[in-house]
Amino acid sequence: MFAWLRKFLSAFLKQKALTGHVEPDPDAARLENGWLHGLGVVRYPSVRHSSSSIDSPIGIVWHYTATAPGTAKSLAKRIQKFDAKKDRAASWHFLVATDGVIYQSVSVFEGAWHCKGSLEYDGSNFRVNGCTIGIELEGFGKVFTAAQTKSALELAEFLSNEFHMDNECVKFKHSQFDPKRRSDPGPIWGSILDVHFPSEESAKKGSN
Ligand SMILES: [Zn+2]
Repeated sequence: MFAWLRKFLSAFLKQKALTGHVEPDPDAARLENGWLHGLGVVRYPSVRHSSSSIDSPIGIVWHYTATAPGTAKSLAKRIQKFDAKKDRAASWHFLVATDGVIYQSVSVFEGAWHCKGSLEYDGSNFRVNGCTIGIELEGFGKVFTAAQTKSALELAEFLSNEFHMDNECVKFKHSQFDPKRRSDPGPIWGSILDVHFPSEESAKKGSN
């Protein structure tokens, strides 16, 4: 072996042993100007967004699309444009399809049009649309495929780490802001979230 190569490899392995990793993995999830790269995310930028009320999002609001499996991609394409005369003013940041593909429509540093109402955080009131990330789950909230569940939880995990979200804030539901008209994302997704992002109280119980 060439001496320089041996030297390089030994330095490489030493650094790996010290830090556990060497170079950032180019396939690892990362944000570029609010757009997610990695996790197999497909980006279809939408014009349907407004400015945020806060520097970085404080939480995630979950929804389901109430559309059949296989509709995610065409939904993502449809909301790229907006005609105020015929389109409903609706958009979201991410849509997780039943096949596990994640579609991003709006930068996480912009507000999407996914949830009306306001939210109190740190003693201030914010528009929900101005301070949260909206994630749609393809389907009706009754069945979640393994691929969809894995992608959605990886996405939530990434975003909650990136923005240091409290577990409670990772689990906002559309239904809690509009209980008379909305029931999404439904109790099944709620219990999946509770397992992966336990509330402080149940986390304490679990560790006893
Ligand atoms: Zn919704």
